[in-house]
Amino acid sequence: MTYRAPIKDMLFVMNELAGLEAVSKLPGFEEATPETAEAVLDEAAKFNEQVVAPLNRAGDLDPSSWKDGVVTTTPGFKDAFRQFGEGGWQGVLHPQEFGGQGLPKLIATACNEMLNSANLSFALCPLLTDGAIEALLTAGTDEQKATFLPKLISGEWTGTMNLTEPQAGSDLAAVRTRAEPQGDGTYKVFGTKIFITYGEHDMAKNIVHLVLARTPTAPRASRASRCSSCRSSWSTPTAAAVSATMCIACRSSTSWASRRAPRQCCSSATMAAPSARWSAKRTVASSTCSS
Ligand SMILES: Cc1cc2nc3c(=O)[nH]c(=O)nc-3n(C[C@H](O)[C@H](O)[C@H](O)COP(=O)(O)OP(=O)(O)OC[C@H]3O[C@@H](n4cnc5c(N)ncnc54)[C@H](O)[C@@H]3O)c2cc1C
Repeated sequence: MTYRAPIKDMLFVMNELAGLEAVSKLPGFEEATPETAEAVLDEAAKFNEQVVAPLNRAGDLDPSSWKDGVVTTTPGFKDAFRQFGEGGWQGVLHPQEFGGQGLPKLIATACNEMLNSANLSFALCPLLTDGAIEALLTAGTDEQKATFLPKLISGEWTGTMNLTEPQAGSDLAAVRTRAEPQGDGTYKVFGTKIFITYGEHDMAKNIVHLVLARTPTAPRASRASRCSSCRSSWSTPTAAAVSATMCIACRSSTSWASRRAPRQCCSSATMAAPSARWSAKRTVASSTCSS
């Protein structure tokens, strides 16, 4: 299969619609000029067209296999991922402090779009790794950042997100996995996770698993929230999960009213988001629309 990256269109969108020039005036993004964007996109196109895209069909013909507890990916994937790491593609938008290129997400998004279009099954590994990196940047300790980020950003290690359980898919309020502190800074984790993308593979030396689990002091009860357009009732892991999102029942995008904060408007900045940790996450539905 051939893939040609639509660089001209991407640069047009970046420069004429998304305002790359204005972004490059922001502190820290001085290097993100239109010329830099063009050079990065040209290189990304070469890599994705020549290395990643040809493996798409190969993945269909000879998919990953599991034997004796070991997952072997499609021939070619491992080498392509090595080149991906060495080329700095995992780190396009991540901080230079940890080995990334520190470019704006606007440029990284175009690179990711090429990767996704060239070979989605390959692209999922960097996608999940990006998630782990961003979680560590947001909530990791300095020691965790120093331990994990340079290796995740260089592509030596990859990352996963372990959220889903047999009884908890869309409804993460139903998560039962628990993490018990051992008193020495470590936790014992009990539970069952399923559907973990790139949870096992042979493309990196180590896989960092970020596991969603409840600590003994975590809030247990889910709280009912309501879409203020259709009055559907939703349960969220905690009130902190209340966020701006689309209501599954009425498709309005959306106002949520929790018991703690009964009537809040989605169009105002006063939306309830008690914890930044959850504010961008989706809320999940527990019952059908009553309207
Ligand atoms: C390819 C793939 C990769 C994945 N990778 C990961 C991963 O890396 N890490 C991870 O943690 N999980 C992963 N998952 C799991 C994924 O997040 C869950 O499959 C997803 O959250 C849905 O959960 P579920 O499959 O239990 O379906 P359910 O939540 O049981 O949903 C079943 C159906 O009911 C609908 N539904 C659910 N709730 C409502 C509601 N309240 N109102 C109306 N309709 C509703 C859904 O839209 C769906 O059609 C992956 C799944 C797939 C398919």
